[in-house]
Amino acid sequence: MSGVRPILGGVTREAGPSRPGSAVWQLERSLDKWFGSKTRAKPYAALGLGCVEDLLYHFPRRYEQPGKPTYFLSDLKEGEHVTVLAQVVSASARVSQDGMKHIVKAQVTDGLGTTLDLTFFYHRPQAAAWALRRLRPGAQGLFMGTVTSYRDRLQLTHPATSMLEDSLSAADRAVIDAQIPIPIYPASSSLSSWKLQEVIGAVLDTVPLADIPDPIPAEVRAQENLPPLAEALRHIHQPATADEWGPAQHRFRFAEAFTAQVALGRRRVEAAAMPGVPRLLPPPAEAFGTLLHAFDERLPFHLTAAQRRAGNALAAHLSESAPMQVLLQGDVGSGKTVVALRAMLQVVDAGGQAALLAPTEVLATQHLQTLRSLLGPLAADGEPAPSPSPDGPAPAQVRLLTGSLGAAERRATLADLASGRAGIVIGTHALLSEPVDFADLGLAVIDEQHRFGVEQRDVLRTRGSRPPHVLVMTATPIPRSIAMTVFGDLETVTLDEIPGGRPPVSTHVVPTDKPAWMARVWQRTVEEAGAGHAVFVVCPRIDAHDDGDTAAVAGAASAAPGARSVASVEETQAMFAREPSLAGLRVAAMHGRLTSVDKEGTMRAFADGDIDILVATTVVEVGIDVPRATLMVVLDADRFGLAQLHQLRGRIGRGSEPGTCLLVTGAAPQTPASERLAALAQHRDGFALAELDLDLRREGDVLGAEQSGPTRSLHLLRVARDRDLIAHTRMVAWNLVVGDPHLRAHPDLADFLARRLGDREEYLERA
Ligand code: ADP
Ligand code: MG
Repeated sequence: MSGVRPILGGVTREAGPSRPGSAVWQLERSLDKWFGSKTRAKPYAALGLGCVEDLLYHFPRRYEQPGKPTYFLSDLKEGEHVTVLAQVVSASARVSQDGMKHIVKAQVTDGLGTTLDLTFFYHRPQAAAWALRRLRPGAQGLFMGTVTSYRDRLQLTHPATSMLEDSLSAADRAVIDAQIPIPIYPASSSLSSWKLQEVIGAVLDTVPLADIPDPIPAEVRAQENLPPLAEALRHIHQPATADEWGPAQHRFRFAEAFTAQVALGRRRVEAAAMPGVPRLLPPPAEAFGTLLHAFDERLPFHLTAAQRRAGNALAAHLSESAPMQVLLQGDVGSGKTVVALRAMLQVVDAGGQAALLAPTEVLATQHLQTLRSLLGPLAADGEPAPSPSPDGPAPAQVRLLTGSLGAAERRATLADLASGRAGIVIGTHALLSEPVDFADLGLAVIDEQHRFGVEQRDVLRTRGSRPPHVLVMTATPIPRSIAMTVFGDLETVTLDEIPGGRPPVSTHVVPTDKPAWMARVWQRTVEEAGAGHAVFVVCPRIDAHDDGDTAAVAGAASAAPGARSVASVEETQAMFAREPSLAGLRVAAMHGRLTSVDKEGTMRAFADGDIDILVATTVVEVGIDVPRATLMVVLDADRFGLAQLHQLRGRIGRGSEPGTCLLVTGAAPQTPASERLAALAQHRDGFALAELDLDLRREGDVLGAEQSGPTRSLHLLRVARDRDLIAHTRMVAWNLVVGDPHLRAHPDLADFLARRLGDREEYLERA
């Protein structure tokens, strides 16, 4: 962990009072140093545990009590890596058929009627005999391994084992007798839960817990009835009774939400403190000569009520000197571009410049085309253009700035941006990382926020002498709890209406076990392609061996390994090549392993009609408009999250023809997986689906947290479950920050954020 960490707009501060020997100094010691060995620290690093403090924040996932297991063996799923507490029913040893190995088989039970088979292999007979002695019927132990199935029975093969009564020491006896909870930690095959328990115990005994600054101010603790840090650390790792860990867990959950909200609140205070430039709308009498007015006059449709509401909100924000920080969210097709463009025109009318940033060159180019066609004669691309009407405004000079621009063109564009001649520039996010000089950047519009981080927004904020207004657009409906957590420094404006007239995409679930239905899917594909339409075929994987671009899709059902294989782009493409009925169709592949040049070329060919069928991974989730795409076939659709599927189907039916989305699945009826797909077929509202998705997801999935990933930030907080807590801490945090953004009255909190904030922000951005 580095000693100096930036917080808030370039201000840096020294990490806390890390005098050698102090509590904080001890917390920050790397585990290399703590163990005095890089090798020993390695399995910890694999779990994201780098320093002593990480160990303290590596919380048990659950607790077991001898004789009262909380984790039922009937809940075990094939493929899961588990630590279970169970009691031995029987055990026996035999020699393998080739005579080379000694096999010990045991059956264990959770006491609730479910048993699990354990198999151990040994080379030496003494080892097998020793194992048999430990696995005495009636003995209890923790068993760690990956669940497999053999002849329809679940088993653990050679699980790491810790028998509770091994040593029969007085202390262990006491654990069993007193029903002291046993913490079960997130572990790995090289680092068991009980090893972690031992090491964390050593940390708790070595570091002076009472000297660790508590990030939650005492008055907040009192008000919220939360235990102090030292007590909570003891109780969460070493509860003496089953009532101790609950309040400790709650405290840490609160702390996670609270510190995140303090960090976000400081961002908002800081952003508001750096005044921008108000871009005023002219008084109504003078509005006639503006680009915005002329634009509204020539719009071929009426704005939806939602577009008007959003437009008014943005216009009001732009007229303030506090730089606007708005997240405009609206379902695919809700018409965000027009809203953004109107905001851009307001800024250009007021004499400023506006930039529109897209995640890829293809999208930037497409935005340029869209803007050109919407603006018509109100846009010019270099030559001084006459005003389209005698008393009308001069056209806006619109430019594209991407990496593939020729050197001369690029120079000219940069010059026009610096001189202020160009009013609107469209580019990729790279526009920010380059030293592009704007005469007077008044508004930056960022399309597809989920590819764009907080830090990049900060770059914008610090560009030029006055920060521009910022409008971030996302088509991924973001439930309020996530918006508060991940985008807490932005205000949300929502387009909750889809312009009428466009036929909705009809969605159907196709079970793979009905061959006639599958045949119909491919027949339909041929028909659509034959009619000159484009077809997406989406697969979870790139090839048979790969996890694809969607490894462990959050919220998706995990099919048992060894079950029917999951569709891949390569295999599906090969299938198309073999299938006589599909002969003659132009098929191309699209996935994350292609170079971005190849991806863009393919996408363009697909949009232009040179490719009939695009077999792809979810890389197409965000992408250019292909109005000729009418059919999407999603193979193994149960592998995807609901929100993701909704996003995917937004890619079709964007032209005049209605779209059809076919969700192909092998999931059995009545299972959660098939119910999710049924919900998708039924609902069109992305926000309803996003909330539903959140409810259906398993813990830890929501922010894309991985068990093995950096475990620094949100350990206990579950965005779905903790909606109310997040909203509450947001208020508590705001009250604290608004009068004291530098946290002068709360140095311990400031130090905590300084030490841990960098990681958290990285984490939030990955979401
Ligand atoms: P998204 O929110 O997905 O970015 P777009 O801005 O691309 O949506 O709009 C989708 C399509 O709907 C575009 O072709 C756009 O011109 C059209 N559109 C936008 N607003 C309206 C409206 N009020 N009435 C009819 N069509 C509209
Ligand atoms: Mg869009």
